Amino acid sequence: MPELPEVETVKNTILPLIQYKTIQKVDIFYDRLIQSNIEIFKKDIINKKILNIQRYGKYLFFDLSDDFILIIHLRMEGKFSYNQSNKNPRISSTTLIFYFDDSTSLSFNDTRKFGLMYLTNKKEIHSLPMMQKLGIEANKVEEKDYETLFKKLKRKKPIKELLLDQSIMCGIGNIYADETLYRSNINPLTKGNELKNEQFIEIFKNAKIVLDKAIKLGGSTVHSFSSNGIDGKFQNELLCYGKVGETCPKCGTKFHKIFLGGRGTTFCPNCQINHSLQKAIGITGPIGSGKSTVLNYLKSKKYLIVSSDKVVHSLYEEPYIRNKVSKILGFNFDVLNEDSRKKAKELMVKNPLVKQKIEDFIYPILEDKLIKLINENDKIAIEVPLLFKAHFEYMFKKIIVITLSKEKQLENLNIRGEKNINSSIKLNNDFDYKKNENVYLIENNSSKEELFKKIDKILEN
Ligand SMILES: [Zn+2]
Repeated sequence: MPELPEVETVKNTILPLIQYKTIQKVDIFYDRLIQSNIEIFKKDIINKKILNIQRYGKYLFFDLSDDFILIIHLRMEGKFSYNQSNKNPRISSTTLIFYFDDSTSLSFNDTRKFGLMYLTNKKEIHSLPMMQKLGIEANKVEEKDYETLFKKLKRKKPIKELLLDQSIMCGIGNIYADETLYRSNINPLTKGNELKNEQFIEIFKNAKIVLDKAIKLGGSTVHSFSSNGIDGKFQNELLCYGKVGETCPKCGTKFHKIFLGGRGTTFCPNCQINHSLQKAIGITGPIGSGKSTVLNYLKSKKYLIVSSDKVVHSLYEEPYIRNKVSKILGFNFDVLNEDSRKKAKELMVKNPLVKQKIEDFIYPILEDKLIKLINENDKIAIEVPLLFKAHFEYMFKKIIVITLSKEKQLENLNIRGEKNINSSIKLNNDFDYKKNENVYLIENNSSKEELFKKIDKILEN
């Protein structure tokens, strides 16, 4: 979807081509493109001269003679194409053509057909509901606007959704929202009412930097944007948007993708910690390291404790998930049956691709569950064996990583009567962690008492 820089680019590309030309004829191939009365549109647009084109947010305004204004929104895929001659410029996606007095023409092509046009006059434009709903342009925010914006942004909604709300600030869409939040080190899920004023100011500054630079470079050509056949260049400057699978240039952690309000959202789970969820304690470590011992200790300290393995276990009991997992495994998986669990374990040890597929499917569902639990509980500790591999580090205020020697690990597994020690260790050998200021490493090679002392120290911090 074209955002502010792309729409500005469209304006800059077509204005020199059509300025001062008079519309002699119009062909409309898709009536719903015209949001004002179509019969009046067809009549009034004729013999109007295009004096100028202006842009506000993602809207284009053609200033026409006799004080008329044509409002245009490109929406998902709307594109203008200028034609040197007026001979048959129509292609399959063309929804409208303006023919000018010098035998040139301008087509509006729109494969998705969401674009819209509205003809009005200068006097009425400010009373149109769609115009009244527009907030300040995101690259034009000044200090005097801060207080008003703080009030509008301090809401119990994820900051990414608030940035996309055109009635607060206009011009930002999915690409520039992800880029702005990445550059501001703010997690897209953090709620507006949990951000400080300084963080909002950081957002305003970065939105301006990102949008102004994108305007200079002619927008971003991602998916299909181009203006009159010319591609933008800002996609080469993107640091975060669409980079899932690549690593964060600031810290080297792999980018993480979630869906927020139905939109793909990319962020760095290490640089963009979720401030809304900053109360939970995460516990991780290899198999047999003593995670459950720590969890139970925290239970005695009045924490609500959650084992993500148990959450996953209960997820596997849901018919939809069970079916999907059975399909990936290639047999009818029953999590309540020990033989079935053993078979699945062996299959995953033998075939890492199967394991990967299961994880790719189950992690996002687990992630939603954990976020919900953290949102609902103020004092909560969650054990996640593959916390860093799943990129969940952004959820936690403190992460306790338990390490121990190989000997101690085997000893612990024997004590707890683990049946398939070798395959269990193999299945967990991709345990990894990343050092950060909120990550606390503790060795668990001696007694429980020693371990609990170390935990107490971390909690006090
Ligand atoms: Zn990072």
